[in-house]
Parts: sequence; structure tokens; C-alpha cells
Amino acid sequence: MFRRTEPQIQVKTAAEIAKMRAAGRVVARTLDELRASVRPGMTTLDLDAIAERSIRGAGAVPSFKGYHGFPGSICTSVNEEVVHGIPKASKVLREGDVISIDCGAILDGWHGDSAITVAVGEVNGDDRRMMEVCEESMWRGIAELRPGKRLGDIGHAIDGYMRSRGRFGNVQEYGGHGIGTEMHMEPHVLNYGRRGKGIELVEGMCLAIEPMTNQGTRHVRQLDDGWTVVTQDGRRSAHFEHSVAITADGPLVLTARDENRAKIASLGFPDPDRS
Ligand code: MG
Ligand code: MG
Repeated sequence: MFRRTEPQIQVKTAAEIAKMRAAGRVVARTLDELRASVRPGMTTLDLDAIAERSIRGAGAVPSFKGYHGFPGSICTSVNEEVVHGIPKASKVLREGDVISIDCGAILDGWHGDSAITVAVGEVNGDDRRMMEVCEESMWRGIAELRPGKRLGDIGHAIDGYMRSRGRFGNVQEYGGHGIGTEMHMEPHVLNYGRRGKGIELVEGMCLAIEPMTNQGTRHVRQLDDGWTVVTQDGRRSAHFEHSVAITADGPLVLTARDENRAKIASLGFPDPDRS
């Protein structure tokens, strides 16, 4: 006899989702501070110090620090680096770079996880388009987070949007994940997929949605430091992420920043700061 098994997926109550929004707000404010701080001449280790101060100042803990031995409080991935870049005193930002900053925090036992890609000074049109396509593909994926939808609908929406915008590489080796009392929980969320396939999404699930968009091919490799993921062809990459709760009213963006307000309203998602 075969027994059908589903991965164990944590389902949250409304009160727990409120706690996750509190954790997500710490991440959101830290990313706001980092975005405002980014400028040519600073190092990625400078950004790490700002992030750690911001997270701990809010009474939270940086979840990345020590995660499987990761040395930083944030991941800082510059230009051809896709994700998991290690903050370093030797990594100096230059005018025209793009930097992906991934940030996680634990508050009261609940996790938030979010990422943005930021231009260092002025970047060219190709970089801007890559960032816009990546961020919009994330919103397309988030829009699928409704009870009754399927896991495959998320990846289908992300991949479909990216393909519709031209020749971008959609990284397949990494993806989103469940989030709650741990940063990485079931299920794994692919950034590609088939509509109507996979587990059913239910109210109370919380998922981190995080597409990575390359200017060249989708192929990536890991550096010898055991962390940093780079594009195989050396072309640039972008990464955006939000943690989101599935509610009866629609996707509740737990790591929403003030600058996301208009987008969230335009999509008809619930206001993450309603009481
Ligand atoms: Mg992240
Ligand atoms: Mg994540």
C-alpha cells in the first residue's frame, strides 16, 4: 500500500500572521535604510554593519548570521553575483553597479525574509529593465497566492512574465520557500512551473517569493567560497523577494515597504498595515 504524503506545511493563525508582519516590518525598514545608504565608494561590509545595527536596534536577530556558517547579517550580491554574496571589506561599490541585498530577521520567534536590487548611482537601460522585469515577475507570482490556487501557478506566472519581456535568464537552481518559525520551510517554491500543478494553497500558508533574473542565460555556478552564486556567462543578475501570507482577502505582503504601498493597492491586495 502506498500512502500519499504531503510535505508538512505550517499554517498560521491571524494572530501569528500579525507577528510575522512585525518581523517583516523590521526587514522592510532595514532594506529601506540600506537602499538609502548605498553609494559609490562604500563596501558591502559597511552595508552589513548598517543592517545588523538596524535589525538588533529593533529588538530582532539577523537570521542569516551563522546560518549554516554564513558570516554576514545580509547577503550582498554585486553585478554578476546572483545570490548569497558575502559582505566584505574588500568589495567596494562603484558607480553603475547593481547590488542585490537579501535580508532576514527573527522577531519573537517569527521570520521575515526579503530582497531588493539597487542601482549604485546611475545604471544603464539594460540594468534598469532587468531590475524592473525581476521585480514585476515577483508581483505576478505573489498575485497567485490565494486559497485554491496551486503551487505551480506561482512559478508559471513568474516564468511566463519573464519570458514575455524578452531574453532574460530565469535562474532555476534556487527559489522561494515556506517561512514561519524557520526561515526555510516546506514547500520549495519554483520560479517556473505548470498551471494547476502541485499542492493546493490554503489560507494561513506563508511563502517567500523570490525570482532571480539574469541578463544572459539562466545558468549559474557557485564560487569556491561555498556561498556566492554567480552567472556562468558573467552577465548581471537581479533578485527581488517578499514574504507573503495567503489570506481570504488576498496576498498579505509581510515584508512590504512604504514604497510598495501604491503597487499593493493597485493590485487589490490587503493593506499590510491595517489593524
Ligand atoms: Mg531572502
Ligand atoms: Mg528567501
